[in-house]
Amino acid sequence: MIPYSTQDITDADIKAVSRVLKEPFLTQGPAVERFEKKVASIAGTKYAVALSSGTAALHGAYAAAGLTEKDEVIMPALTFAATANAALYLNATPIFADIDSSTGLIDVKDVEKKITKRTKAIVGVDYSGRPVAYRALRTLAKKYGLVLISDAAHSFGATYYGKPVGGQADLTTFSFHPLKSITTAEGGAVVTNNKNYFEALIAFRTHGITKDSAKLTRVEGPWYHEMQSLGYNYRLTDIQAALGENQLTRLSSFIKKRRALAARYQKLLATIPGIVLPPPERTHETSAWHLYPIQVDPKKRRAIFEALRAGGVGVQVHYLPVYRHPFYEKLGHTPGPCPNAEAFYAREISIPIFPGLTRQGQDTVVRALKAALEESAMYT
Ligand SMILES: *Cc1c(COP(=O)(O)O)cnc(C)c1O
Repeated sequence: MIPYSTQDITDADIKAVSRVLKEPFLTQGPAVERFEKKVASIAGTKYAVALSSGTAALHGAYAAAGLTEKDEVIMPALTFAATANAALYLNATPIFADIDSSTGLIDVKDVEKKITKRTKAIVGVDYSGRPVAYRALRTLAKKYGLVLISDAAHSFGATYYGKPVGGQADLTTFSFHPLKSITTAEGGAVVTNNKNYFEALIAFRTHGITKDSAKLTRVEGPWYHEMQSLGYNYRLTDIQAALGENQLTRLSSFIKKRRALAARYQKLLATIPGIVLPPPERTHETSAWHLYPIQVDPKKRRAIFEALRAGGVGVQVHYLPVYRHPFYEKLGHTPGPCPNAEAFYAREISIPIFPGLTRQGQDTVVRALKAALEESAMYT
């Protein structure tokens, strides 16, 4: 089976991990800080805080932004459930905005319609690796006094107007799950230029405990540290950070390979009837091409999907709109509010794209896709 995505691990990655295993610190050691410095440098921000997952990073970013039970946070309906779940962890209310039908990115006009007195933040999601309209979202956030957060789980290594994704929003989160741009197995990070957010995140990932003498409310002895807010244990280990640090050396080559594969799909699939391709990159952006989302006739999607899987092509669908998950339905959400997101879900198939996908592998995908489309065309 050709997977829709998979990690790329080299002997050098394995060596980097083995080395840490012989060092004094398996966690809370120097590898995490080294990794954070490099992530911040790549993202073009002052600060990076590594956390145990992209979900923990979202939780931390929302907490740093001050989301509470009084607040609404606007986000696209077409995203992984974690984008919304992290708001629920803080008892804040996720409000779902619709998407642009071609890119799958949040519709800025719909965001503005959904702003109320309770809105505290907007979350953009760089669906498939393509940067959202940060400039337009920034303008909106400024106009209404909102925090702009980016769930950039798909877009680590992408660029927007010549700058790396990272510094556009007030807080930007990455995921280092094996299927994302680089991996630490589980892991994530928040990047920001804001010192207050940075300090809040450092406390948040370690129980809200500080040892910083400048911050202690009192001193009871050299052992003394104190808990000042309710935090979590959301730390990334040094073992993971060492893997991540070594992966970072190949980030640009990973993105280059993903972009080349996307460009080649664009050529190979351009003349095939029955599919809509993702729009090519616009001049002001490069995508990290985490996904290559094609759209087909919704009445044939399931048959095409099943034929691809049966033919050894590991396709997936991204995403069921968050509010259509049974858990969100139990909270009172009903179908309908974001028709573009619902239609996108009904038509979408993510076909394989990852750094290790060879030309031959890609040709196999294209052949299987053509066969599946032809077959599905016969019984309508
Ligand atoms: C992967 C992903 C996350 C969560 O990341 P984890 O590291 O798996 O916790 C959040 N949002 C989006 C859009 C993702 O794709």
